[in-house]
Amino acid sequence: ELKVKVCIFGAGGVGKSSIVTKFIDERFLPEYDPTIEDFFRKRITLNDEQINFSIIDTAGNEEYSLIIENWIKESNIFVLVYSITRKLSLKEVQFFHDKIQRFFDCENYPKVLIGNKSDLFTKREVSIEKGKKLAKELNCKFIETSAKTGENINQIFYETILLEIER
Ligand code: GDP
Ligand code: MG
Repeated sequence: ELKVKVCIFGAGGVGKSSIVTKFIDERFLPEYDPTIEDFFRKRITLNDEQINFSIIDTAGNEEYSLIIENWIKESNIFVLVYSITRKLSLKEVQFFHDKIQRFFDCENYPKVLIGNKSDLFTKREVSIEKGKKLAKELNCKFIETSAKTGENINQIFYETILLEIER
């Protein structure tokens, strides 16, 4: 059995809870309480192997670094999310990256960069190239996803498995 301990970081409203909900039970919630921090578990079987996910869905606006540090301590793989419809949320990824980096004392902790809300392409503020550029700087995989349509949502968690295997 492979244990994959994932923590999802990103600005409020980028779709962290929606991504987790979509992955866990294939629902899309049009409304979701932005203040809830939540823990999820999911078991899947992949190529005859049991994968046991534990996922921390962070609330994103924590005033106390101690809470963020606890989440980081509990996790091995990090999913950094921004919304393609909000330029500022790409900047905020850097904030979370810096926090995690300081904790691990190295830049190369296991992570994936996600540009969510790809279905809202008419409201796009962040080009694919900008996302790819940041991923290159952070030295990680980059995926655009939609928690609404489900596009590439499973791919996120597939990447976390690969990162856990490499770890
Ligand atoms: P969080 O604060 O990062 O957890 O964001 P939420 O998951 O609560 O989502 C914030 C809002 O964006 C909600 O109204 C969601 O329904 C919406 N949302 C999340 N992901 C997507 C997406 O991929 N596409 C669209 N169109 N809306 C989304
Ligand atoms: Mg949330």
